[in-house]
Amino acid sequence: MTVVKNICCIGAGYVGGPTCAVLAYKCPDIKVTIVDLSEARIAAWNSDNLPIYEPGLDQVVFECRGKNLFFSTNVDAAIQEADLIFVSVNTPTKKTGMGAGMAADLAYVESATRRIAEVAKSSKIVVEKSTVPCRTAQSMRTILEANSTPEIHFDILSNPEFLAEGTAIKDLLNPDRVLIGALQTESGIEAQNALVDVYTHWVPKDRVITTNLWSSELSKLAANAMLAQRISSINALSAICEATGADVDEVAFACGKDTRLGSKFLKASVGFGGSCFQKDILNLVYLSQQLNLPEVADYWQQVVTMNEYQKKRFVRNIISTLFNTITNKKIAVLGFAFKKDTGDTRESAAITLIKDFMQENARVAIYDPKVEPQQIYMDLAEPGVLVGAQEQVEKKVQICQSAYEAADGADAVVIVTEWDEFRDDQLDYAKIYAGMNKPAFLYTKDTVTMDRIQQTSGAKSTQPTIPTT
Ligand code: NAD
Repeated sequence: MTVVKNICCIGAGYVGGPTCAVLAYKCPDIKVTIVDLSEARIAAWNSDNLPIYEPGLDQVVFECRGKNLFFSTNVDAAIQEADLIFVSVNTPTKKTGMGAGMAADLAYVESATRRIAEVAKSSKIVVEKSTVPCRTAQSMRTILEANSTPEIHFDILSNPEFLAEGTAIKDLLNPDRVLIGALQTESGIEAQNALVDVYTHWVPKDRVITTNLWSSELSKLAANAMLAQRISSINALSAICEATGADVDEVAFACGKDTRLGSKFLKASVGFGGSCFQKDILNLVYLSQQLNLPEVADYWQQVVTMNEYQKKRFVRNIISTLFNTITNKKIAVLGFAFKKDTGDTRESAAITLIKDFMQENARVAIYDPKVEPQQIYMDLAEPGVLVGAQEQVEKKVQICQSAYEAADGADAVVIVTEWDEFRDDQLDYAKIYAGMNKPAFLYTKDTVTMDRIQQTSGAKSTQPTIPTT
């Protein structure tokens, strides 16, 4: 039976970093090395200021770093030492090139796999951790097998990650399930058992699901597609609510009480963001097209179309209540991360909204408790601008140190991220209102109760929305 003693993780990002830090924390008998090509990212992982913000992450990393947890740019050495290698590199949606469209860009997965094949000097279990289209493991296997010898054998597993940013450590310590797919061969099943043994250091055995490789790969795309679908469904209903006088929260509550539906992911919002939902659904759409299943592709595409519509509808609502023009009006945007408790801004609804405000010549003031100003400048600059992003964006956008500063003199406050510090028991909305230009408008959902805002401050609002994912 294979016993894993040394693990390497290729990719020290939002997934590789927390996942393997928790693994080291829970398996003190296993040496874990997380590697990345980015020197800056590895330097940050080795510093007091970790490159990503996740509640509880510091504690886990500081506890194990230097004992059985290491961060390095020496990819080859870590590959050579390891018995098991997680491939946790980025798999963005392709934007340009021949095979573009909505395909996943698997260049990073391929290059990490080639590196393993080239430098390995002993047998390895290679684990696909990145989210990939179904049957990507076959391509990885072909690359690895081309380099295998009688002495060096590669097994490939799929072990998709279900953590959610903002609750990553909690999710990793106490996962709903761990999914491990393997080829149903003797050696595939032995490798699968070896990874099951690693996880059962802390995960109850009945939460570790073993399947064939392809079910595991597809399950990850399917889970994200279904979660996003619920958000698009409630958002589609929110448009009907606004037109009819129904209250979307009441509708969500009533629907959620049906035990067949459940209450989670039924909160109306400005639309989902983050690096995964849109990308993974587009992967599913692309896969369906490749499999010549156009109706299936259309079905999933609608989830993304609805999400785009929701963002545009929210902006239209804001402009219309601000007397159909926002030219030169000051709009305070509270929150820039795609959701609370993360500094990640990838595909954040805030970016779409603010770009629309800029397009309409508004003056935008932004405050987010965790996102670095430099990140905001990069996200709001014209595509392709690497140098001078700050100068370009600063003409229309002010980055503030507090919600009060952002709201000072504003015509409207728009809460885009549901950070706890924007709740009405944390932020003094009467003070916010007092500093605003009148009539003052506030757009939000849920973190502040509109009735209370209206009682305390007199601010008006349209049907508000806030992201929940
Ligand atoms: P990320 O961009 O934060 O991190 C990926 C890292 O891989 C980068 O630091 C990059 O420098 C590094 N890298 C790329 N190629 C490399 C190579 N050849 N050698 C060494 N390092 C290399 O991405 P992420 O958010 O961690 O996502 C990783 C994968 O996990 C993606 O497939 C994503 O879809 C999936 N996933 C993400 C989440 C999430 O919430 N972010 C959740 C579940 C699954």
